[in-house]
Amino acid sequence: MARAWNLKSRPTGMPTMDNFEFGETPLPALDDGMVHVRNRWLSVDPYMRGRMNDVKSYVPPFQIGAPLEGGAVGEVVESKDPNFVAGDWVLHMAGWRDEAVVPGQALNKLPQIPGVEPQAFLGNLGLTGGTAYWGLLDAAQAKAGDIVFVSAAAGAVGSAVVQIAKAKGMMVIGSAGGAEKCEFVKSLGADAVVDYKSGTPLVKALAEAAPKGIDVYFDNVGGDHLDAAFAVARRNARFAICGMIDSYNSGEPATFRYIMRVIAMRIMLKGFIYTDYLGRNAEFYGEMGPWVAGGQVKSRDTVVEGLEKTPEAFLGLFSGKNTGKMLVRL
Ligand code: NAP
Repeated sequence: MARAWNLKSRPTGMPTMDNFEFGETPLPALDDGMVHVRNRWLSVDPYMRGRMNDVKSYVPPFQIGAPLEGGAVGEVVESKDPNFVAGDWVLHMAGWRDEAVVPGQALNKLPQIPGVEPQAFLGNLGLTGGTAYWGLLDAAQAKAGDIVFVSAAAGAVGSAVVQIAKAKGMMVIGSAGGAEKCEFVKSLGADAVVDYKSGTPLVKALAEAAPKGIDVYFDNVGGDHLDAAFAVARRNARFAICGMIDSYNSGEPATFRYIMRVIAMRIMLKGFIYTDYLGRNAEFYGEMGPWVAGGQVKSRDTVVEGLEKTPEAFLGLFSGKNTGKMLVRL
């Protein structure tokens, strides 16, 4: 038996603990081709909120009464797949539980890189870093000399965007909630920061931080942040639309005062999904691997201890409880 978090009911608005149920779930038989894994690190991510709704999207919805899923890093306990042996560290999607029996085909063996911890494959060397890398460099076509604005800059994806942009010779403005988070964003190399909780209207604060305007906007938030980016965009600005956490729970329609500047400024908006780029993993590892191993791209993880706290860690993403990547250690 594994211990796992199930989706008990579909949330309306902000999820609560009542939407989750903790219990035991049987492990499938260890047939040929299957691998028994003990999870050590679990990822919680904002996109999981969308999977709690019963709607068609780019990933299927979670099923009520079944364990939730998500990125996990663990150690192989026993293997009936010749590609894996006990003690291997692997990355897979059977998160939200302590143990899993998974087809070997659904596992990625983690390379041993000196100075790189296994959980980095849930962060800067995984979905988080890949999203930042491809969103900035491919979706937004950002290049040296560009002025880049990134929202949720103290979070997992945002903090990677700041550092990748600096490594590539861009000027970076990051927004985050509160003075402490803004200090963190500065410590990553950002040239200017905007504290969106300071009380100053966001458009005004961004215009002050970016007096020449912006060439690139990396959107993690949507809503007022996207509108402020429209307001200060320069001609031919490119926007990578990565996420809109502002409306994942409210579901309220957003209103945009400055959207007409898309026309005058010839702004290009490009939505993207991390998995679009899985075929280019070698390029990503080739550049990001040495940055992470050499400390040029750093991570500050927010670590929540224990499987029991997984929903709490997930819910914390929506009130800014994390700086850097939110992880659960088992
Ligand atoms: P994260 O930034 O580590 O955590 C979420 C952060 O968002 C919080 O720490 C909080 O920071 C901020 N936030 C929450 N509610 C907010 C609101 N209403 N207004 C402004 N800020 C708010 O999460 P992440 O994993 O890196 O994801 C960041 C974004 O990227 C999300 O929108 C996510 O859905 C998206 N994403 C997209 C892809 C893709 O393939 N397109 C892949 C991964 C992630 P503050 O304390 O600063 O408010």
